[in-house]
Amino acid sequence: MNVDLIEAWLNYYQSKGFRKIQSAPLIHPLFPTSFNMSAGIVQLDAKIRSPKKITSHKECLVQKCFRHFDISKVGDNTHLSFFEMATSFEIGNANEEIAINDLWRFLTDNLTIDEKKLWITTFSQDRIANKPISLSKKLLSLISHIAKKRVIYGSKETNFWQQGGGTEIKDNIRLCGPQIELYYDLGSKLGCQKKDCNPLDNCGRFLEIANTISIKYFIDYNQEPKLKNLVNPSTETVIGIERVAQILENKTDIFETLFFQPLTSQFSKSLNKDIKIICDHLKGLIFIFAEAKIEPGRNYRKRIVRTLIRELLTSFYILRLKPKDYLAKLISEAEKIYKERYPEVIKARRTLISTIFEHEVVFQKTLEKGANQIKKYLKENNIKKIGDKEKQFFRNNYGIPTRYLPLIFT
Ligand SMILES: [Zn+2]
Repeated sequence: MNVDLIEAWLNYYQSKGFRKIQSAPLIHPLFPTSFNMSAGIVQLDAKIRSPKKITSHKECLVQKCFRHFDISKVGDNTHLSFFEMATSFEIGNANEEIAINDLWRFLTDNLTIDEKKLWITTFSQDRIANKPISLSKKLLSLISHIAKKRVIYGSKETNFWQQGGGTEIKDNIRLCGPQIELYYDLGSKLGCQKKDCNPLDNCGRFLEIANTISIKYFIDYNQEPKLKNLVNPSTETVIGIERVAQILENKTDIFETLFFQPLTSQFSKSLNKDIKIICDHLKGLIFIFAEAKIEPGRNYRKRIVRTLIRELLTSFYILRLKPKDYLAKLISEAEKIYKERYPEVIKARRTLISTIFEHEVVFQKTLEKGANQIKKYLKENNIKKIGDKEKQFFRNNYGIPTRYLPLIFT
C-alpha cells in the first residue's frame, strides 16, 4: 500500500539520524507568482545558502509538489502536475558517497526493487561557468560498483542541476551541483526498442525514479556567471512517490497505481488521456484550494488555476460526460487517499466545486464566441479546416483549447 512506502522512507532516514519535518505549503509566502514546485528545498534553501558555517544537520520529509510547466504533458504514462516527493537533506559537510549508497540500499534492500533493473546516469566531468568540475574518483568507483555496467555518463545538460531562474530567485544567485539519477528499466518492449537504448534516450523505456544532488556550488549571475563553492556543501536525495509506487505495484502506467485507481475507476470507459487529465488536474486543484481559494484569471497563479479548470472541462466535453455527474464523487475518492496525511484536503470541496461551475459559464461563452469566429473565418476564406498556425491564433486570442477544436465541427 502507498502509505507504507512513505512510512518506509521516513523511518529509514529517521533511523539514520534525519529529523522529520512537515511538507511546505504549495502556496509559498516567499514565491508570490508561482506554486512551490520542487521538493523540500524551498524551506531549506536559506540554510543551504547561509554564508556562515553551520553545524551539519539532516532532515527528511515528504513534500507535496505542483509543476505548472508539466500540465500540458499530462496524459502519457508518467507525467503528473501534482505529485509527492520524498526527500532527505544533509546540510553542511554532506557526504555524497553515503547519500547515493543509502538511496541504493533503500530501494534494493528495503523496497526490494530488483537491482538488475536499476540504471544510473551521472555527471562525471564538464566545464561549468568556465570552471572544470569533476566527480571524485571515489564516488565514480562507488557508482560503478553498485550499478555494475548499468551506468551512463551524462554531461552538464543532463546531469548538472541548477536552481531555476525567474522572479523566484531574488538575488540571482542559484544553487547548483552534480546530479546522479536512478532509472528503472520497464523492459525492452517499451520505447525505441534499439539494442543500445539507455536512460538518456528518454524514449519511455526507462523511468526516472530517484536522484541525489551534491549541492556544493552556486553561480552568481549578477555579473559574468561565476561558479563558487558553498560554505555548507549539502546533498539532496529524492524519490518520486507515485513513480516508485508504479514499480512496486508492477504497473506500466502511473495512473493504474493506487494513487489514481480509486478515481479512474469511477469512469465506465477504459483509461485514456482525458480520464488521466481529469484525475490529475482535479487533484492539483484540490491541493491548491485546500490552502486558498484562487479565482481563475489571467495572471500568475490565477492563470494556472484557469488552465487546470479549462483543460479538465475540455476533457469532460471530449468524453461527452457531464462534470456535475462526477466531480463530487472524484473529490471524495481523492479525499480518502490523502486526508490522513493532509487533513487540509477536505477544506477544498465546497469552494472548488462552486468555482469550477462558475467558471464553466464563462468558459462556455468563450467557446461559443471562439467557435463563431472560427466558422466565420472558414467561410470568409472558403476553407473547411484550419491549420496549426490558426489553431495557435484561436487558442491565444479566443481561449479555445486546441483539443476542443474537433468538437466545434461535429
Ligand atoms: Zn530508447
